[in-house]
Amino acid sequence: MNIIQIFKRFPTQESCIKHLEKVRWKGKPKCPYCGSENTNPLKKELRHHCNGCRKSFSVTVGTIFHHTYLPLQKWFLAIALILNAKKGIASRQLARDLELPVKTAWFLNMRIRKAMKADSTLLQGVVEMDETYVGGKPRKGKDDDPPKRGRGTKKTSVVGMVERGGSVKAKVSGKLKAKNLMGLVRMNVDTEKAILITDEFRGYLRMARIIEHLVVNHQFQFADGDIHTNTIESFWALLKRGVIGQFHKVSKEYLPEYINEFCYRFNARFYSGEVLFDRTVKRLLLMT
Ligand SMILES: [Zn+2]
Repeated sequence: MNIIQIFKRFPTQESCIKHLEKVRWKGKPKCPYCGSENTNPLKKELRHHCNGCRKSFSVTVGTIFHHTYLPLQKWFLAIALILNAKKGIASRQLARDLELPVKTAWFLNMRIRKAMKADSTLLQGVVEMDETYVGGKPRKGKDDDPPKRGRGTKKTSVVGMVERGGSVKAKVSGKLKAKNLMGLVRMNVDTEKAILITDEFRGYLRMARIIEHLVVNHQFQFADGDIHTNTIESFWALLKRGVIGQFHKVSKEYLPEYINEFCYRFNARFYSGEVLFDRTVKRLLLMT
C-alpha cells in the first residue's frame, strides 16, 4: 500500500482505531485489565467501559501504540513507507516525510523493524545455505597484498538459508564453525524432510549427519543444473545493495534488525500490499 492508499483507507484517528480493534479483538472488545468481554463502547472517546472492573480502556492499552502520543495515522504511514522502501528507509528521511523529530522517527523505524522479526516456521523442500560478510572494512593484507574479502576478514558474517520458492532466513553469526552452522540448520530447517545445498566450504562438511546434503561444485556448476546456490546469492546481492546504498555504515548493534527487515520484505513478495500491511500491524499489536 502506498501512502495515498493509507490516507484513503485510514483518513482519521477513528478509522485507525477501528482497524486496530478489528485486528486485535475481531469485533469483540476484551478488557485488557481483567479479561472481561462484558463491555460497552464509549463512542465519543473511542474507548470502552468494562462492566467487570469498571475501568475504561482503548484498543492500544498494553501495546506499542500506547503512550507514544503519536496520531495513529503517522504510525500507519510509517509502516507503509518502511514496507515500501525496497532498500529500507533512513530515520532522517522518515522524519522529513512524516514531520517528526528524528528521535521519534528512529524509534518508529526500530519498532517496525522489530515487528519484522522472523517467525519460527521451519524451511522445507530444497534449501540453499550460504554465508556472506557485511559492514566494516576488509582487513588489509601484508605489504601490497590486495585486501582480503569474505572468509578471513573482520567483517561481520551473516548466514542465510532460503527455501526455493519460499522464505529466507538470515542471521548474524559468530565464528563460522561446523557446530554453529549445524545449530542454525537445526533451528531453521526441517532436517527430516528438506534437502540442503551449500558450497564446498569446510564448515558444511559434516551437514550430511543431520540432513540430506548436496554440495555445489563450482568447477562443474553448469553441468549440475539444480544444484546451485543462486537464490541465496541473489538475496545477498539485494541485502548488500541495501546496506551500502542506504545506510552507508550499519553499526553492528543494529545489523540483525536490518537483516530481519530485508528477509521480511523478501518473504512478503507473494502477498498483496494490503495483506502485508495488515500482517505487519498485527505483529506490532502483539509485540510486547
Ligand atoms: Zn475489566
